[in-house]
Amino acid sequence: MSARRLLVIGGDAGGMSAASQARRRSTPDELEIVAFERGDYTSFSACGIPYLVGGLVSDPDDLIARTAEEHRSNGIDLRMRTEVAAIDLGARAVTVRDVDSGREVTEPFDDLVIGTGATPFRPPLPGVDAHGVYGVQTLGDGVRLRDDIVATSDANGHVVVVGGGYIGLELAEALHRRGREVTVVEAGAQPMHTLDPDMGALVAEAIRGLGITLLTDARVDAFETDADGRVRAVVIGDRTIATGTVVLGLGVKPNVTLARAAGIAIGPTGGIATSARMATSDPRVWAAGDCVECHHRVSNRPVVIALGTHANKQGRVVGINVTGGDAAFAGVVGTAVTKICDYEVARTGLNEREARDAGFDFTTSTIEATSRAGYYPGSRPITVKVVAERGTGRLLGAQIVGREGAAKRIDVLATAIWNDMTVEEILQLDLGYAPPFSPVWDPVLTAARQSNANSD
Ligand SMILES: Cc1cc2nc3c(=O)[nH]c(=O)nc-3n(C[C@H](O)[C@H](O)[C@H](O)COP(=O)(O)OP(=O)(O)OC[C@H]3O[C@@H](n4cnc5c(N)ncnc54)[C@H](O)[C@@H]3O)c2cc1C
Repeated sequence: MSARRLLVIGGDAGGMSAASQARRRSTPDELEIVAFERGDYTSFSACGIPYLVGGLVSDPDDLIARTAEEHRSNGIDLRMRTEVAAIDLGARAVTVRDVDSGREVTEPFDDLVIGTGATPFRPPLPGVDAHGVYGVQTLGDGVRLRDDIVATSDANGHVVVVGGGYIGLELAEALHRRGREVTVVEAGAQPMHTLDPDMGALVAEAIRGLGITLLTDARVDAFETDADGRVRAVVIGDRTIATGTVVLGLGVKPNVTLARAAGIAIGPTGGIATSARMATSDPRVWAAGDCVECHHRVSNRPVVIALGTHANKQGRVVGINVTGGDAAFAGVVGTAVTKICDYEVARTGLNEREARDAGFDFTTSTIEATSRAGYYPGSRPITVKVVAERGTGRLLGAQIVGREGAAKRIDVLATAIWNDMTVEEILQLDLGYAPPFSPVWDPVLTAARQSNANSD
């Protein structure tokens, strides 16, 4: 009997987690696995790109978890610089194009995994395609930006980052670390719109304190270019900011072009709709990563949250199910952390806007505390905000801004949300305490205590 054939589109977190898990659970005689990646890198950490750009990591290869050769020696036929151009569900085949030669062939499948990731948003503004305007999504993008920053270090030192989300801010830090003068242009009133404005204001203050210029309520209208086609300025209303390098951090949308064209169902958020087992509307076509939408456990709604942590888990679920197992992706609660210089920012659950949209009646409580016992060296301020359901006290969401030791405290609150805990239950939690790690009431417990007092 010949082996079944699994094809995988996309050679990063979602696709290769699925391929690797499937390989662990089946022999090549049972399952042939072929993966297609159109770019130059596989299994790369896009999350590490800001540290490559900033010079904390010097070799792009350090951001590669597993090379193409390693995948191949593991029994996965990974074909680089090979793009899937179309999916034919009727014929159970994909059309594959060699990126260099343009040659196309047809490859049949029994099962197919779509791990095509996300596409960074590129605003349709004059000059957006000028040389020196960078979107940063793949490791190749990161290498190009890093090389440009190094090569132009003697030229115009000013860099403009468009978009004050976490990727924009991480890259702003990276460029600041390179000694560049950095301006962040944000259309909203505060950066980090995944936080409430009051917590975003703390981030704004922190960024400005680092010497990074932050323009809020500011929209880019155009990019001016010079005679060589390189960006020379960013135009915002009647203001012009001279710059030789622009970084776009305007968010991403699921890359569903192939899936949509094939007739695979797309959900209301624009991501591929899947079951908890990560099967698409075609039961033998699976999807994982930034291209899918998933279930938010608090709002009970589908969401697209483009994070590597979800892509890896979803890929694992696909790899189990495609080899006869039964696994489910249990959904998300919206947890995310980031760091801008020594400021740490974290969120989980629903912020005020999301809680309102989901129809919750809620209270909010914000506390100021310290990361360690006040007398212990290195103790730093930390702000914790909690959103709790009015009446029941169920924790709906939390946000933290502080310095060292702030961000990962969110995991306690994320676990509490996952388990539908109330703020009263949280304040009873037996969390670790010693002066180097927290005050005797950890800030998480203090926030829960405050919220419990407010939640009636
Ligand atoms: C700068 C930056 C920082 C980040 N930081 C974090 C972080 O701190 N924490 C976190 O959890 N997440 C972070 N992320 C998000 C995380 O990197 C993504 O969620 C993750 O990479 C998604 O994996 P994926 O496999 O779904 O998609 P991708 O990583 O986008 O991979 C998709 C792959 O599919 C390939 N592809 C697409 N279409 C085709 C086709 N037709 N044929 C062949 N190949 C194709 C692409 O070339 C790409 O390599 C960050 C992202 C960026 C850009």
